[in-house]
Amino acid sequence: MVGPWPHRAYTFHALQRTFGPMWLRCDVCRRYAPLPLAGLRDVDYRSRTFSCVRCGTAGALCLVEPSREAGMADYRLDPCAAPVRHPAAEARLSGVQAPPHRLSGRHRREPRPER
Ligand SMILES: [Zn+2]
Repeated sequence: MVGPWPHRAYTFHALQRTFGPMWLRCDVCRRYAPLPLAGLRDVDYRSRTFSCVRCGTAGALCLVEPSREAGMADYRLDPCAAPVRHPAAEARLSGVQAPPHRLSGRHRREPRPER
């Protein structure tokens, strides 16, 4: 006999119970990491976004390990023990434009200083 679904709908916990382990993927860095569910179990997965700790671009939630997907064999497992939000992702989420990268005068096409 099957009873009612015991988990709240649309939570990461329900997603994990349905699909098993999940991963976060960055298509720019071509890396992925296991999704840690600590602190996310009762969070609505539709309201949460992820970003790459290395480059700051938006990450994708994966139900299948990326390296096992067709055409994604070059994705490497790169878990981060203590992930910190990348400054570019922080700027994107807060709506504040990220400061431009510091470039040398050569990149700005400024004349070279006279010697
Ligand atoms: Zn990345």
